[in-house]
Amino acid sequence: SLALSGQKVLVFGLAKSGVAAIKLLLAQGAQVTALDARDENALGDVARELKAQGVKLVTGATPAGLLEAQQFIVVSPGVPLSLPELEAARIADVPIWGEIELAWRFLSEVPLFGITGTNGKSTTTALTGELFKKGGRRTFVGGNLGLPLAEAALTPKDWDAQVVELSSFQLEGIQQVRPKGAAILNLTPDHIDRYPSHEAYGEAKARIFMNQGPGDFAVVNAEDAHVMRLGLQANVPVYGFSVSGQFAPGGPKLTGMAVAKPSGFRLDFLNEDYTLTNRALRGAHNAQNAMAAALLARLGGVSREAVQAGLDSYPGLPHRMESVRVLDGVEWVNDSKATNVDSVLVALRAFKGDLLLIAGGKGKGAPYKPMVDEGLGKVKVVLTIGKDAETIAAAYQGHAPVHSCGTLDEAVRRARELAKAGDTVLLSPACASYDQFKNFEDRGETFKRLVQAL
Ligand code: ADP
Repeated sequence: SLALSGQKVLVFGLAKSGVAAIKLLLAQGAQVTALDARDENALGDVARELKAQGVKLVTGATPAGLLEAQQFIVVSPGVPLSLPELEAARIADVPIWGEIELAWRFLSEVPLFGITGTNGKSTTTALTGELFKKGGRRTFVGGNLGLPLAEAALTPKDWDAQVVELSSFQLEGIQQVRPKGAAILNLTPDHIDRYPSHEAYGEAKARIFMNQGPGDFAVVNAEDAHVMRLGLQANVPVYGFSVSGQFAPGGPKLTGMAVAKPSGFRLDFLNEDYTLTNRALRGAHNAQNAMAAALLARLGGVSREAVQAGLDSYPGLPHRMESVRVLDGVEWVNDSKATNVDSVLVALRAFKGDLLLIAGGKGKGAPYKPMVDEGLGKVKVVLTIGKDAETIAAAYQGHAPVHSCGTLDEAVRRARELAKAGDTVLLSPACASYDQFKNFEDRGETFKRLVQAL
């Protein structure tokens, strides 16, 4: 643990995790300076509350010498570590930590199970948490999802396990964090704005393995060649999961495998079969998430029975293929989190057919053709909303009838008229929501309200 009483610490970036870090630092008696590029007006309540707690607030450009005068600096995941003022602090030997590292200094006695990857982090984290809880462990579930880890660090004695979603930005800010179990789910091009290359993005993810040692283990997606290569950096037993039963060459020798089966999966090294019938975990992508979670939990000491019970009871996260209602034999599914074409592909693969697809919003410029192809023979009607409606309609021309609806209200109304028993109405927009909604949560909540009102 850290002795922080009277120490000068600066927190750079005042979003959720920065504010949580400050709360922890104040509870430890540190003398906290908070720095953010936004002005006090933009910070609003946050600025007022911090000042009321005795935090010194500095906004706008970073004053020369401020960072060099600190004991250490806690940087939010949104602040690039390459900023010149951080470089100056580094030269002055001032440690620069992420909020996860700070929290870890208080939580290092509690086994940590870390999950990273491009997609599926939140689902796998929530599910892994469910499995540990079913196993009777007092489990903190959070990190990039839900509560920041600093919240757990305020009450370290309350926990026997911490299941933590870790973004690549958060992993850049760790120094000593040592997961007992560390999983990388997949790697696809993302955050090209902040990483010079796809390789650099992968290297940030691989930091999840760097402090592991005896008694720890790694979990990798055995079908993902890039993840398998990163697995070579793990100095601990590596376990793989695979839907197809195949694995990519060029990776580490796997100590054990989870392999998908028709209605579940098998952990080969334990000779254990699990069933996967929970609706909240439909689709091959969720089979991957479930296998990763089961490996983390089972190797983390959770019993076979508890793992199966947790797979069955997992309630799902909102806005990710969330079943809203079955009305007159029609299932309505909210997949508002699908803000890009890749996510829609994953959803389409999870359904057998007779889909009415509601899509559109603020497009991200990627071609819609792959989702047209994936939906052939499955998507029988497309209902468009928002800005990118015409581009989507053009992509579907000759493949499926398209109804231009404009708004989500209208799309739900039309879908109700067109759907027959056995059909599924799927909101999986392939677009950001900002043209018509506050965020994807707002879009999903609106959808659910409209569907409940039918
Ligand atoms: P993250 O926290 O990494 O964004 P989520 O669990 O919130 O991940 O899932 C986001 C979206 O990514 C889902 O709506 C789904 O479309 C897709 N997805 C989920 N799991 C996977 C997976 N294992 N592989 C590929 N795509 C996935």
